[in-house]
Amino acid sequence: CQQNVADSEKIKGFLAQMGFSFTEDEEEADFILFNTCAVRGHAENRVFGNVGALKDLKRRHPSLIISLCGCMMEEKQASEHIKQKFPFVNLVFGTHVLHRFPELLWTALTASRRVFERGDEQEDARIVEGLPIHRDGTTRAWLTVMYGCDNFCSYCIVPYVRGRERSREPEAILDEFRSIVADGYKDITLLGQNVNSYGKKLERPINFSQLLRMLDAVDGDYRLRFMTSHPKDATHELIDTMAEGRHICHHLHLPVQAGSNRILKEMNRGYTREKYLALVEYARKKIPDLSLTTDIIVGFPGETYEEFRETVSLVREVGFTSLFTFIYSPREGTRAARLPDPVPYEEKARWLQELCAEQEKISAERCAKEVGKTYRVLVEKQNEKDGLLCGRTDGNVIVLFEGSKELIGNFAEVKITAARNWILRGELIQ
Ligand code: SAH
Ligand code: SF4
Repeated sequence: CQQNVADSEKIKGFLAQMGFSFTEDEEEADFILFNTCAVRGHAENRVFGNVGALKDLKRRHPSLIISLCGCMMEEKQASEHIKQKFPFVNLVFGTHVLHRFPELLWTALTASRRVFERGDEQEDARIVEGLPIHRDGTTRAWLTVMYGCDNFCSYCIVPYVRGRERSREPEAILDEFRSIVADGYKDITLLGQNVNSYGKKLERPINFSQLLRMLDAVDGDYRLRFMTSHPKDATHELIDTMAEGRHICHHLHLPVQAGSNRILKEMNRGYTREKYLALVEYARKKIPDLSLTTDIIVGFPGETYEEFRETVSLVREVGFTSLFTFIYSPREGTRAARLPDPVPYEEKARWLQELCAEQEKISAERCAKEVGKTYRVLVEKQNEKDGLLCGRTDGNVIVLFEGSKELIGNFAEVKITAARNWILRGELIQ
């Protein structure tokens, strides 16, 4: 997820300060690091496969340091599994001890022992400011405003591996924000598991809308986005702030997860279908060109086909720009993992296909209306394959068009000439 991308940029910042440079070629690497995800089982299994594949490389290059970090390494059983089954892994550390990375790497390099570190409650509670950052892109930047999560949605491992919710001081965020703008980044995303509860626990409480307004007041030619917004804490004030902002994108990622009230309750999401739809209605009234995206879990334990169809009908009713869809994956230690789950995986996979087919129809209908419109596009890169420039609208939709690569990193006015599955084709008008 974006939080992991932001963490990776911090680790790269440390490495760059230590004099390392970066390569994609594992044959020439002295140090290989996997930043892992624990949200679904599929990602976890892939990690074991990828690490296992390095056994031969390590045999040929015995001085190579192989390391794993990230959410999965905060899970005791995953870290133990690595310890037992992959003796050639030198260094394993969780998200809570990321700020100690230089010390941990030094130990792995100099002491002849393997290093395994995870957080404890003290580590959980702290925010370490001032870590170096080596940003990967030149146009887009990530800025973490808060860590952890207190929501305990019944299916989700995040509160267990990322710890309790804690917000950075607004002044620290503003300083980092100003330097990102000064460095020329033009698409800046504020990150948190639930940005709408930002600041509640600070000594001088401030809410997320106030933070947004404070950042939006910084002058410059840039766009400001944020994720993730939890529907239970999204307020009218937030929507009004978006509508009034100078730089705030008309894009809202608002994960709904399911369309049935019974399933939403079982998920411990804290809102109903009706409340979600009312929020969307208010947002669309205030921001008519709003682009809405969402996350959906198909096949939560005990979900029936009829309940799943309520998700499909909600998707149709809202008309999202795009969906991030997942088949439910049981996570050990969560409440949902103990619920009876009678529907076979293959059946859930069919439901997922049904949902995606519905979204494709919705996308086609909505995309057709895009032709002829003009968008301000931030140009990110030139496609290797077809040489087309590739950029993003305010609503986070990809646009491809012909143009000179000098435009990369700048805004361009583009008229849409064709559209398919939310990839828009256009022509440069300025
Ligand atoms: N904090 C964010 C989500 C972080 S996890 C929020 O509340 O929206 C990103 C997405 O992964 C979730 O929105 C959910 O759709 C999905 N997800 C989380 N746990 C899952 C699980 N056990 N199985 C399948 N999908 C899951
Ligand atoms: Fe997980 Fe829910 Fe927290 Fe999001 S809000 S990270 S889904 S527990």
